[in-house]
Amino acid sequence: MTDVFGDLVGQDEAVATLRRAAASAAAQLRAAAPVAAHAGAPAGAGDSEGHDDLDALAEEFDEPGADGPVASPAADPGAGMTHAWIFTGPPGSGRSVAARAFAAALQCVHGTGCGRCPGCHTTLAGTHADVRLVVPEGLSIGVGEMRALVLRAASTPSGGRWQVVIIEDADRLTEAAGNALLKAVEEPPPRTVFLLCAPSTHPDDVSVTIRSRCRVVPLRQPPAGAVAEVLVRRDGIAPDVAEWAAAAAQGHVGRARRLARDPEARQRRDAVLAVPRRLTGVGAAFDAASALIEAAEAEAAASVAEADEAERAALQTALGAGGTGRGAAGAMRGAAGQLKDLEKRQKSRATRAQRDALDRALVDLAGFYRDALTMALRAPVAPVHTDTAALAGAGAQKWEAEGTLRRLEAVLECRAAIEANVKPRIAVEAMMLSLWRG
Ligand SMILES: [Zn+2]
Repeated sequence: MTDVFGDLVGQDEAVATLRRAAASAAAQLRAAAPVAAHAGAPAGAGDSEGHDDLDALAEEFDEPGADGPVASPAADPGAGMTHAWIFTGPPGSGRSVAARAFAAALQCVHGTGCGRCPGCHTTLAGTHADVRLVVPEGLSIGVGEMRALVLRAASTPSGGRWQVVIIEDADRLTEAAGNALLKAVEEPPPRTVFLLCAPSTHPDDVSVTIRSRCRVVPLRQPPAGAVAEVLVRRDGIAPDVAEWAAAAAQGHVGRARRLARDPEARQRRDAVLAVPRRLTGVGAAFDAASALIEAAEAEAAASVAEADEAERAALQTALGAGGTGRGAAGAMRGAAGQLKDLEKRQKSRATRAQRDALDRALVDLAGFYRDALTMALRAPVAPVHTDTAALAGAGAQKWEAEGTLRRLEAVLECRAAIEANVKPRIAVEAMMLSLWRG
């Protein structure tokens, strides 16, 4: 029987930390309401037990980020509950899965994240009234969005447990939004818990001051075996396909599932892995760059088209409704502005989707040159892309270790350049030329 943490692949340590914290949080709620929690127990015993819990936990609750007092059961750094957490780890390691699971455990009526009660169910389904999820659709999370969120988060939880705010991609907060969040994290409302997800705790990702107020839950890149196992168990994928997809996705669980199930995702990957073979001259390098960019654009367009259309229809319905009466003229003037706002948001989301698609392609390509490098060095490790291992081996012979390393670096530099806002086409063209010249 699996609980809410069942989907966190290969993260035993993090899961243990979160289970202890959820139990601690539940004890704290019980302690705050000793009458309800100990209704069946003898009055005296129940009461004093409740207060002991409360004291021990309150002490730790006051020291977020610190490891708590030494020489008491609460001294275990993973044991206590705190009001702000950061989940870090490489893309696909399950940062947002971990944050959602922990939110469910906090809202679980049993306090364990049983996976079956209404608290668990509604949290995982995204419909719990006291759980707010921020998923940036554009390139960053703005200050307006963050202020509104912080305000809502300060209210008393309607379900009587916790107000939980999950911020996916906290590294995409604007500086102003980060400051708005920092104020809330510095002076947290008593029943509010912030769960941030970021690639790392590097100051580029999360400001030092926010970091200092949070407890960090590091997630690791799950081993391919663990990813394959969950694809078989949960998604019913055939073991040989699961193993191939888990290796090719380099520990990215969602990517592995997509590769195993979506023929178009497999075709796109095949096209990317054909690049090294196609680089026969300058013209071919530019062609390959165009093809890579256009494929990313097409993939992104397909992924956002449905949401764009639904939003546009919803806005038109909203604007079309109640079009008569005193406010109608003002409403019409406002409509143009709202439509413009929506288009701006959608454009920003499309850009993000393009960059994500391009980055996935670059990770695949990096995997190819990484395979070639391990072969050139005769390192005893399994290839990422088993299906292009022969090609990587041929490359390794031709380029030798040094030339292979330069090519791998060209791919990684291209990723870094795009992350630093270099125009993708320029970065990709430069990379293709380096891959051809070596
Ligand atoms: Zn539950």
